[in-house]
Amino acid sequence: MTAWQARAACRDADPELFFPASDDFTAIETAAQLVAAAKVCHRCPVRRECLTYAVDTGQRHGIWAGHTPGQLRIIRRDRRAGVPHPDIDAAPMCPGCSLLFPMPAVDGQLCSGCLERLHGKGA
Ligand code: SF4
Repeated sequence: MTAWQARAACRDADPELFFPASDDFTAIETAAQLVAAAKVCHRCPVRRECLTYAVDTGQRHGIWAGHTPGQLRIIRRDRRAGVPHPDIDAAPMCPGCSLLFPMPAVDGQLCSGCLERLHGKGA
């Protein structure tokens, strides 16, 4: 168990609440479970760490930080396209482009696309 998992609001909850028998969240019973789990997640102090873990490790089942597997897939797809998620990519952004761009770099540094455009204009 990691340090953030030890502080999770769900650590004493019924695991079946977060890992329902079906991932079909259009079913009324499963959707009700999602709502109940999301209430726990809403007050969880490690929600950001949980969501980051679920996205980075490609979790395909269960409810993580109040997100269904389908919602996690959308976040992964968006991040691969350079669109950050506000809860887990809040810090460094390229200040030069209108498309928000997560950067593994110093905050305020231009992204590679903006640098190319800048050099293209200057050449
Ligand atoms: S955000 Fe939700 S699923 Fe994640 S650790 Fe907290 S309570 Fe558990």
